[in-house]
Amino acid sequence: KKRNILVTGGAGYIGSHAVLALIDAGHRPIVIDNLVTGFRWAIDDEATFYEGDISDSDLVLKIIGEQAIDAIMHFAGSVVVPESVENPLKYYDNNTAKSRSLIETAIAGGVRHMIFSSTAATYGIPKSSPVCEDMPTMPINPYGMSKLMTEMMLRDVAAAHDFNYCALRYFNVAGADPLCRTGQSTIGATHLLKIAVEAALGKRASVSVFGTDYATEDGTGVRDYIHVSDLASAHVIALEALMADPERSHTLNCGYGHGYSVMQVLDAVDRVTNTKLHRTFEGRRAGDPDTLVSDNIAIKQRFGWEPRYDNLDLIVQHALAWERRLTDIQGT
Ligand code: UDP
Repeated sequence: KKRNILVTGGAGYIGSHAVLALIDAGHRPIVIDNLVTGFRWAIDDEATFYEGDISDSDLVLKIIGEQAIDAIMHFAGSVVVPESVENPLKYYDNNTAKSRSLIETAIAGGVRHMIFSSTAATYGIPKSSPVCEDMPTMPINPYGMSKLMTEMMLRDVAAAHDFNYCALRYFNVAGADPLCRTGQSTIGATHLLKIAVEAALGKRASVSVFGTDYATEDGTGVRDYIHVSDLASAHVIALEALMADPERSHTLNCGYGHGYSVMQVLDAVDRVTNTKLHRTFEGRRAGDPDTLVSDNIAIKQRFGWEPRYDNLDLIVQHALAWERRLTDIQGT
């Protein structure tokens, strides 16, 4: 059945992929985005677009009524960890307070399902790897805490109201739509693969490797890189699960269950481009754990989620293809 889904942050990196996944699955996405970090052109033409803020409850209530919204996919928020350390109140506003407002408006408007973009940063520095959903959540930065606080609100609201939710804890999201319709376009990105493909295309001189003395095989940090389109498809499956069983809520890791080191990621870029990135070796970045890899058994078993792009070279290829297109779009 065709559902009307309000996608907050639908002009952003992951939200714009979710819009495509919804369209591809036969649903109808309606986007709300304030375009502070997102781009109007990133939203597929098939989606209905409202420019505005999720904390504008009059606007959100109007959209819920006008568009007969069945569920909300909530991506809107701020995502830069070091910035959250510098400016925590921005994160507690954008990620926590504005989520509180959105949840309140959802309840008021009779929307009974929400899928929430959470993060592996809620775990902090996990005691063991792979990390499981029932392990302790001890965020080590305001970003992770701002998302964990929203998870807690959702839990309590689901207990009190006719409402269920799925919090998806993302690991390292990377890559771009295989058909190159959208991709990672954030200005001044800090994420490893984005920086590496920018360097591969000559937009940067070199790539910094932060820390070479971690307790990993080659001494560089290990992360669980997940293709953004697999992440988007997890949201569509979560939506169906929430509607099929309205009594049940979920908090689930979203990753591949295995990781790559910084060096392995840079080597993959070299392999795909048949060049050699210039690496500069630097000290550790504050707050980085050695290894962050998901246990993804829960989402696979509960939702039957099966990744389609669990292949580092393919992720790099898609990221590169998008970065080339972005050069044309931005005219840089
Ligand atoms: N990293 C790096 N150089 C960079 C950016 C990141 O060596 O320019 C490392 C970082 O220390 C971590 C991994 O790459 O071990 C992934 O970092 P990213 O910022 O992409 O994601 P995070 O894991 O912090 O969410």
